[in-house]
Amino acid sequence: MEISLYDAAVKISQAGRLVLTAHIHPDGDCLGSMLALYSCLRRTGKEVTMLLDDAVPAMYQFLPGYDEIRRPVTFYDGVELLVVLDASDEERIGRVKEVVKAPILNIDHHISNTKFADYWYVDSQAAATGEIVFELLKMLNLPVDAVVACCLFTAIATDCGFFRYANTTATTLRYAAELVEKGAQPHIISENLETKPLDSIVALTKALDTLELHHDGRIAAITVDTYADGAENTEGFINYPRNIEGVELAVMFKVIDEETVRVSFRSRKTDVSKLALLFGGGGHARAAGCTIRGSLTVVKDKVFQAAIRALQE
Ligand code: 5GP
Ligand code: MN
Ligand code: MN
Repeated sequence: MEISLYDAAVKISQAGRLVLTAHIHPDGDCLGSMLALYSCLRRTGKEVTMLLDDAVPAMYQFLPGYDEIRRPVTFYDGVELLVVLDASDEERIGRVKEVVKAPILNIDHHISNTKFADYWYVDSQAAATGEIVFELLKMLNLPVDAVVACCLFTAIATDCGFFRYANTTATTLRYAAELVEKGAQPHIISENLETKPLDSIVALTKALDTLELHHDGRIAAITVDTYADGAENTEGFINYPRNIEGVELAVMFKVIDEETVRVSFRSRKTDVSKLALLFGGGGHARAAGCTIRGSLTVVKDKVFQAAIRALQE
């Protein structure tokens, strides 16, 4: 059932025992949103647990409270509400749905949201789930301190490319300003996110070598072999093909193992969330992704065919 943000706030305030979760392949938005809500709710005396069916990538391990995030390995009894943040379908929360049996409240901003939850509030105009969580905290009258401000600023800034992408609105910038007033430090957050291990930069040089152009230069793709190279941090790699003059659709293939490829899409006009949905993924109009089973050759073939069709529409 679709509910208002006010009703979502009521549900949260009425629950004494909550589990918060976010999507697998976590990013700054889902982690920052979950950590901000956790930090605020815990201070109210509620019993709150954060569960995530994935590891927290090293680049986000500066976020306060990240080490309190648990993996879903044992059953959680007596949970009154499972709050799912920034995830647009049930598969995105992995095994959390198996260890928590409670009504699901989904707070999200993906246009591709499948409305899988018992209650959902989806604002596809919001640049990040972090914007919605900020509104929610205000509604709940929960004070935002420097720790929470750091988490929310990270959530918002990472999902809008530090206020450069098309989803950046006046509201996004206003919220960011408020969070700075509350103690978020953009230069420290940015430095934490930008600092990469050497293997990530080495992986970038290899990835750039794989650049291929299709469909008269309107599609550009790069391939990262995380399986062979072990580089975990590929954040921002896709911006290189995306920024090439004349490119309408950028693709990054990330080889996970011999049978699994993660695919990221970026575009200037084409709705890539629809393209990702064809392969069981999802996302936003200009940034989306999916995971496809199959060898790299087979996956590339399928993706390029679908991408060319999407451009022709
Ligand atoms: P990225 O390419 O940075 O991994 O993801 C871009 C956008 O697409 C993000 O908003 C992310 O949430 C969404 N996305 C990426 N992969 C998937 C997926 O497998 N399923 C769904 N539903 N969304 C995805
Ligand atoms: Mn996300
Ligand atoms: Mn998001």
